[in-house]
Amino acid sequence: MNLNFNGKKVLVRVDFNVPLDSHYQVTDDTRIRGALPTIQHILEKGGSCILMSHLGRPMKKTKEDGSIDVEKFTLRHVVNRLSELLGIDVQFCPETTGEKAQEMAQKLQPGEVLVLENTRFNAGEKKGDEALAKAMAKLGDLYVNDAFGTAHRAHASTTTVAQYFDASSKSFGYLMQKEIENANKVLNQPERPLTAIIGGAKVSDKILLLEKLIDFVNTIIIGGGMAYTFIKSQGGQIGNSLVEDDRLDLAQELLKKAEAKGVTILLPTDSIIADQFSNEASFKNEDSNSIEEGWMGLDIGEKARADFSQAIQSSKTLLWNGPMGVFEMENFAQGTKTIAEAVAAATSDGAFSLVGGGDSVAAVNQMGLAEKVSYVSTGGGAMLEFLEGKELPGIAAMK
Ligand code: AMP
Repeated sequence: MNLNFNGKKVLVRVDFNVPLDSHYQVTDDTRIRGALPTIQHILEKGGSCILMSHLGRPMKKTKEDGSIDVEKFTLRHVVNRLSELLGIDVQFCPETTGEKAQEMAQKLQPGEVLVLENTRFNAGEKKGDEALAKAMAKLGDLYVNDAFGTAHRAHASTTTVAQYFDASSKSFGYLMQKEIENANKVLNQPERPLTAIIGGAKVSDKILLLEKLIDFVNTIIIGGGMAYTFIKSQGGQIGNSLVEDDRLDLAQELLKKAEAKGVTILLPTDSIIADQFSNEASFKNEDSNSIEEGWMGLDIGEKARADFSQAIQSSKTLLWNGPMGVFEMENFAQGTKTIAEAVAAATSDGAFSLVGGGDSVAAVNQMGLAEKVSYVSTGGGAMLEFLEGKELPGIAAMK
């Protein structure tokens, strides 16, 4: 954000992909708030903002005649909330590019904000189309990318557009900077011990992450549905728990690789097992490697909670991705809750904690602990790919 914004029209890619209710009112404005520091800084420095974002998946949900459901997906829905938050009247253009967009951008005065129509109303957006990106670039003197949540996509508004601005005319926004800085606190010379807590449904979604983690963490705690593939790979009986039978060899390999590198892997020694996948199911606490047929592990057990909490408490850096159980069901949320509390307690004792990617963010928010961890990432898939060590196209394009 070291650009000279004075008198400049700044094209800003934000992430305003917010949830809406049936009356198209914004129900969670976290993402809009997340972009405010960048927008306010540009306005304070004498610039004007031309904001671009996508909202939902309009191309996937076209009307019966194949046309876009503009009423449902228009970015106009965010304008009132943004106006309230900024305390100014924000303008809206019903086009992303085109004559009207050019005219409105041209007339924009310092201190003013213009929101363009949903970038995904254009077929070229997701293809990273050059003509579309060029038309976007024409609207602004400078380009700022503050949309970390879509940085792993090589779309026209997140990646291609950046090539039309030279290095002295483009920059990351504050949110993007914060996300990168916090992820780097885990990746680059973290304080040790460094513990990764990985949960969620499937091993297959987290293979790359696990492989990368084995290279540099001290301990990996594995919970959630994915734990049972590891337990079965070691000969455990897991009953009807979630399992990926085609990943048993891989799970075994990962365990061996970790051992060779001196990385401790903690699996849940016990589980809360249930006789159906339902909050109404009967449930009990049992050893994870002797689960009877007809029963399934839906949460980590009491001993696992204590073991995991102890490992978390003695860590100096923590990375958490994925819930420890089916936390959406009250009876199987306790494991995730205990882990969230342990991460919060370790943080208050001085550890750095990053919660990033997937449902662990929802879990931390649901438990009201977001303020008690060091950083909660706004980018699910993007954070996961960043931690896997991939270069994100939206970041690469700024170099
Ligand atoms: P992910 O998107 O990979 O982070 O996975 C999150 C999902 O995994 C949540 O919807 C959880 O309900 C689900 N999950 C966590 N633990 C289990 C489990 N033991 N069995 C089945 N699903 C689980």
